[in-house]
Amino acid sequence: MVDLDGQLFQLLENPYLEPAWQVADLASQLQDVLVEMAPSLRLESVWPACVAHQHTHPLTATVRDGRAVWECPATHETVRPI
Ligand SMILES: [Zn+2]
Repeated sequence: MVDLDGQLFQLLENPYLEPAWQVADLASQLQDVLVEMAPSLRLESVWPACVAHQHTHPLTATVRDGRAVWECPATHETVRPI
């Protein structure tokens, strides 16, 4: 459960996923919540912004080499661990 500005959001854990995918899945859900809440929280609607392509697209949560990471959806390069 995440409380953002008084609004509660439920993040759902999928027990059937590998642990690294669970982390990526939860990060993706949190990303959706933050983007949805961005206007009222005065945050960028692109979060987390891709370092190489600022404001063009957000990073994508995924798993590379068994680790949950944020990657650029255009180049599929790993940007940082989650
Ligand atoms: Zn990018």
